[in-house]
Amino acid sequence: MGSSKKELIEELRSEGITDEKVLDAFDKVDRSLFVPDALKIHAYKNGALPIGFGQTISQPYTVAFMTQALSIKKDDKVLEIGTGSGFQGAILAAMGAKVFTIERNLEIYNRTLLLFDKLPFRIMMRYGDGTIGWNEFAPYDKIIVTAGGPAVPENLRKQLKVGGRMVIPIGDKEKQSMMIIDKTAEDKFDTTEVPNFSFVPLIGREGWSGE
Ligand code: SAM
Repeated sequence: MGSSKKELIEELRSEGITDEKVLDAFDKVDRSLFVPDALKIHAYKNGALPIGFGQTISQPYTVAFMTQALSIKKDDKVLEIGTGSGFQGAILAAMGAKVFTIERNLEIYNRTLLLFDKLPFRIMMRYGDGTIGWNEFAPYDKIIVTAGGPAVPENLRKQLKVGGRMVIPIGDKEKQSMMIIDKTAEDKFDTTEVPNFSFVPLIGREGWSGE
């Protein structure tokens, strides 16, 4: 397990993260800004960490895997569902994407909004249910969902550009497969599935029912 940024980046490389732009973004963005004070010493370990309210900052490998799968280009318009700590959004923005991100937990939303105010990235944030998307700025080049849902929300399929890609974990509440979905034409999608991920539940109108 890496414990410095450099070691973490080497570990990600050895686990199959070969896109230098993704690894560069991990170098630029300080993950310790996104984890609670008491856990900052673990910021560069390759593990998920609690961020309060039963939620987590995803494992660095998972963030890197999803980012690499999205194949981000400069100025891509990216919709993220599940802002959480803001780390994934910051990685996307550090790669030159214009990020639109939605969080349904009000306390987490307020905390991350304050943090984004201090960072030099293009990130727009909204409080609400991300399973209905953010129609005002659609269509998006890329969509990333960082909570696990029972099925791909129809609204997100609609808000993806033709030629765009969505990455979303789908399965039961414990285990999900990563769906990498290319929209090849209006109402036509090609999907690749990668098993064995574990996310907190996607809760909302087109997700699991809430607590
Ligand atoms: N991308 C995050 C990061 O970098 O820290 C990962 C956050 S955590 C694994 C997933 C987040 O999704 C939680 O903060 C949770 O409150 C949020 N969430 C769950 N369902 C949601 C929904 N329907 N819309 C928006 N956010 C949602």
